[in-house]
Amino acid sequence: MKRIAIYPGSFDPITQGHLDLIQRAIALFDQVIVTVATNTRKITWLSLEQRMKLVQEALEGNPQVTVLPCPGVMVDFARQHGALAIVRGLRTAADYENEFQLAGMNRKMAPEIATIFLPARQEYSFISATLVREILMLGGDISQFVPNVVMNRLREWHKLNE
Ligand code: ADP
Repeated sequence: MKRIAIYPGSFDPITQGHLDLIQRAIALFDQVIVTVATNTRKITWLSLEQRMKLVQEALEGNPQVTVLPCPGVMVDFARQHGALAIVRGLRTAADYENEFQLAGMNRKMAPEIATIFLPARQEYSFISATLVREILMLGGDISQFVPNVVMNRLREWHKLNE
């Protein structure tokens, strides 16, 4: 039986921090489904199609990774896809508070699905998609925070919007 994990998020846009987490999840599971939130509380900067495209391009050629939109509740999605676990990242104490609450709710709804927390690697722990967006909008250099393919696409789309 394949050991499947889901890694849910907004990915608005995907960053080096997210990618590092995905690489580490691949080492633990046979298949990682990166699930891109569709009806998040957050109003996203990029459209679902754009966020999916960036995740797909950043992970191209990786047979252990599938990218799918998550139209409903995370644990329902995990169940439907036979996932054993939900992978989440922890950067700060604030992340811990939010994530612990989310994991508790998810455990109530689906006790058979584990939440696995992976601590952010030190060099990526300060990277957030929100700051990447702000730097880009101010015309700054985001090359250290996102893969090249993502940086090029974002520059292209940002120029189109100017
Ligand atoms: P959400 O809107 O669900 O918080 P995000 O795309 O912002 O989605 O993040 C998805 C997951 O990745 C969250 O668990 C978050 O804590 C984690 N994460 C985000 N950035 C990093 C990073 N730089 N290093 C490690 N984990 C991260």
